[in-house]
Amino acid sequence: MTADCIFCRIINKESDAEIVYEDEDIVAFKDVYPAAPVHLLIVPRRHIPTLVDLKEEDTLLVGRLVGVANDLARSFDLDKSGYRLVINCGREGGQVVYHLHLHLLGGKALSPAIARGRGV
Ligand code: AMP
Repeated sequence: MTADCIFCRIINKESDAEIVYEDEDIVAFKDVYPAAPVHLLIVPRRHIPTLVDLKEEDTLLVGRLVGVANDLARSFDLDKSGYRLVINCGREGGQVVYHLHLHLLGGKALSPAIARGRGV
């Protein structure tokens, strides 16, 4: 838990968010500024700032984050139509919140171009 991290605050129920999934390691909630009809954020409970901070021992966690994203894609009926998972890393990667998160985007035809910024 990092006191000034908005995602830590959401995970600890100190800030509001529409939580759609949680377990002992992972929380998922709706993005407050959705860039697509379905825009969820899948977040580890542990405060890991960015993708480059992942360690070898986090391999299982990364697999679980992707697994939860896929389960949510099925729950939100995106599995047949398709969807996009995005991880922004660092300043030039467009990361704004420094608590590792996957964006799950779907519910419309997303640009086939390589994502830039919000990338949709
Ligand atoms: P990124 O640019 O990858 O760091 O994305 C951060 C995302 O967090 C953005 O899409 C924001 O809209 C979203 N976001 C920021 N604050 C909140 C919040 N309080 N609740 C839900 N989503 C948020």
